[in-house]
Amino acid sequence: MKSSVRVRFAPSPTGYLHIGGLRTALYNYLFARNQGGVFVLRIEDTDQNRYVEGAEEDIIRSLEWCGIEIDEGPQKPGSFGPYRQSERGELYKKYTAELIEKGAAYYAFDTTEELDEMRERLQKSGNPSPKYDAITRQSMKNSLTLSQDEVTRRLEAGEEYVVRLKVPRRETIRFEDLIRGHVAFESKGLDDQVLLKSDGMPTYHLANVVDDHHMQISHVIRGEEWLSSTPKHVLLYQAFGWDIPQMAHLPLIMSPSGGKLSKRKAESEGIPINTRDYMENHYEPKALINFLAYLGWSPGDDSEIHSLQKLATLFTLDRVSKGGAVFNHKKLLWYNEHYLREQSDALLADRLKSITKDDHLHKLDKDFLENAIGLVKERISKLDEILSVGGFFFRDPDNYDEQALKKWTDQSAGLVTIYMDEISGIHENEFKAARLKTALEHTVEAEGIGFGKLMMPVRIAVTGLGFGPDLFSSMELLGKETVLRRMRYALEKLGS
Ligand code: GLU
Repeated sequence: MKSSVRVRFAPSPTGYLHIGGLRTALYNYLFARNQGGVFVLRIEDTDQNRYVEGAEEDIIRSLEWCGIEIDEGPQKPGSFGPYRQSERGELYKKYTAELIEKGAAYYAFDTTEELDEMRERLQKSGNPSPKYDAITRQSMKNSLTLSQDEVTRRLEAGEEYVVRLKVPRRETIRFEDLIRGHVAFESKGLDDQVLLKSDGMPTYHLANVVDDHHMQISHVIRGEEWLSSTPKHVLLYQAFGWDIPQMAHLPLIMSPSGGKLSKRKAESEGIPINTRDYMENHYEPKALINFLAYLGWSPGDDSEIHSLQKLATLFTLDRVSKGGAVFNHKKLLWYNEHYLREQSDALLADRLKSITKDDHLHKLDKDFLENAIGLVKERISKLDEILSVGGFFFRDPDNYDEQALKKWTDQSAGLVTIYMDEISGIHENEFKAARLKTALEHTVEAEGIGFGKLMMPVRIAVTGLGFGPDLFSSMELLGKETVLRRMRYALEKLGS
């Protein structure tokens, strides 16, 4: 039997897709796939003031990068389109009229000045958060206080108006949330929400409810920040006489230093906030997905590594946590390392070439490049780090890491010279890691010094760095000529 599960990811194109949004999309997608349902992308672009050019493309490109496939959306219309709210204006007008007809909404003609005046008046009389509500509406200019004739006259004269939801004065609004359980809100804390703005555009609340109903959305899975909007939505569903979709509000994503992970916080803690930042900084999409899946959910055992397909088979809403999920960047890098190491050296070589214009690297011998990648792969967290950590494979160091140089002592040049003499005698074809290591052990022993006393200066001379992949294997790969050239250069530069 065909599943009746239909979920939607409904971003507003007000900026680039941030990781919180990506996680919401992911959970919707996983739920849809788990249930054999449909994953819809709906663009909620009714707020023209906040519209950002290119945001929709960014959202689609980001989802694609992560492997999240859209079943229905602006680029892939199904039978519930259009999928951009800006193209569904007539529908919202029709339903606004229906709400007014039913007495669940009303016209309000108040000017900005009149609204300010009302708020000021109420604040002065001790109300810290004045609202346009069941009490205040009685002294304002709306279709509940003005005569029918006056309302008609104003509408015909083309006066500006908004349409507001008539929130009941004292009512407890209840709904079930699949993650939070039973939720209740008191209507007296709610504003008579504007549903249709003076520019004729609907607000989020009206458009969201009308569309979720019309697109036959079975489950609304979204961030916790929308929980407080839900009672207004419940009132709208009730007014229309429509079934309420199942609700599931996802826990907030928290910053490691506490509090919600805002853009500002993320920036100050070195956490990329937009999906495109992860793309541009060469993160592995599989790692980001695996990490985000666990940011507020777990399969209930200690398994951690799963592909998108596998996650879909495991995902259930009852395993989503209520409490905020802390964004642990180290854990993300751990996932990234895992997915990097899983890839063949040949594939990484191709990918590396695609991210750098360095001509030198493009001309390198294929086997040499792949072997170099094989050596550095274990030491890096991100693809682009091959270029820094393994940079010495691609060109002679022309300066030396300052930190490393602290280990270059007065004795170093002398010791490196002795070792150089030792390995100069090795035939090119015998220039192998084991042989180079024995030679070093030999020198160390003869000089009666610790291993590191020689190893570190050799590493500095050959790589320019104080850390890196196995030194002897690296020397073998670089070859005798290069190694000796670099040693001579280091002796010249760092003093012999
Ligand atoms: N347009 C809202 C957003 O930007 C959608 C919230 C919802 O899913 O209802 O997140």
